Amino acid sequence: MKKVVSGMRPTGKLHLGHYFGVIKNWLELQEKYDCKFFIADWHALTNKYAETEKLKENIREMIIDWLSCGIDPTKSTLFIQSGVKEHAELSLLFSMITPKSWLELNPSYKDLKFNLYYQYLRDFLAGKQVKIIQTPPPESLDQALEKATGKQKNKIFEEYLREAFHRAFYNQKGIDFNWLKEVLVKLGLQKKLVEEAVRNLEEGDVGKEIDTLGFLAYPVLQAADILIYKADFVPVGEDQLPHIELTREIARRFNKLYGETFPEPEAILTEKSRLPGIDGRKMSKSYNNAIYLSDGREEVERKVLEMKTDPQRIRKNDPGNPEVCTVFTYHSIFTEDEKREEIAKLCREGSIGCVECKKLLAERINRFLYPIREKRKEVEKEIGRYEELFREGTEKARSQASKTMEEVRKGMGLWEF
Ligand code: SF4
Repeated sequence: MKKVVSGMRPTGKLHLGHYFGVIKNWLELQEKYDCKFFIADWHALTNKYAETEKLKENIREMIIDWLSCGIDPTKSTLFIQSGVKEHAELSLLFSMITPKSWLELNPSYKDLKFNLYYQYLRDFLAGKQVKIIQTPPPESLDQALEKATGKQKNKIFEEYLREAFHRAFYNQKGIDFNWLKEVLVKLGLQKKLVEEAVRNLEEGDVGKEIDTLGFLAYPVLQAADILIYKADFVPVGEDQLPHIELTREIARRFNKLYGETFPEPEAILTEKSRLPGIDGRKMSKSYNNAIYLSDGREEVERKVLEMKTDPQRIRKNDPGNPEVCTVFTYHSIFTEDEKREEIAKLCREGSIGCVECKKLLAERINRFLYPIREKRKEVEKEIGRYEELFREGTEKARSQASKTMEEVRKGMGLWEF
């Protein structure tokens, strides 16, 4: 049977975005392949090394979430990465043959830095009472800049801010802070504030947590996680494709230097979750906008009632546009086709209120979560037994990993103990 390897960093409770982005796919894979799913606790340390007090709790949460969703230890090998020390040994050996430039070019390294910088900028401005409106802007950044002369300044829309920062960040010559300052002032921000925010970015501690050897080298550890089990396939989102390519390159280089040892794994491309957070932004714990798999009925109802709707719709009988409504994006996943079409029609006619529409959605999300909640009760009651299954899985993975390591050590001509 073909082998699949995939892992998840234990960073806290799983939400619906995780379910539709990863877990749903794993549930299908476990029926067809010999799967190894692991809790990537070493990877959680690559940028959260200073916050380990919740690590064990997060691992336990992840065990409960996975099993409640139906990830099945009798079908797949489930284990915890740090229990298989061989991953670290192989990662160390791979780091000897991996040119530094392969890692410095890794796009997700740069993207993460972008996100940290951008988040800082946004939080800084919000902390200074700058109103950053999240409604999509009616025009492009270029059009806004054209208008933004003299007294006719624009409001700062989140999209403008993000786009301006994006252009400044992904600049051929490195981050163009001077250009960014000019643009933000043109868009109506106070010069003093802009100077301060940019100075903090240039000289401050933002992003320092990822300026470590561990972070730079995490794709090498990832290559070890995959190759140590000689995986055939790795399920990944499009943004992770460069990592798989790097894994393949490391395998090729190893094979060329020390003899054919590793197969080159292929990516199984998985669709990104289409579910936004309740405020319409990307669903994320840090935005406090997620619906968790462990949320109770009332919690779900409360969150759905807070969801963003069509901003143009003020009164119940105003015609609405489901295309721009977060609630409707959820309906497109949780609601049966016929009912969904009816809701869209009633919304466009202005004959259904948003509260009623949200209640229908909350009911459907709760229906979807019901079996997960029931299973959760069982898992929580017998957590000791389920943790034991992870221990057994870790042992099983370890015995396979150590076989590969024997081959590796032999191929490399290392001392035999
Ligand atoms: S009726 Fe439903 S789909 Fe239409 S705007 Fe309100 S919440 Fe959105």
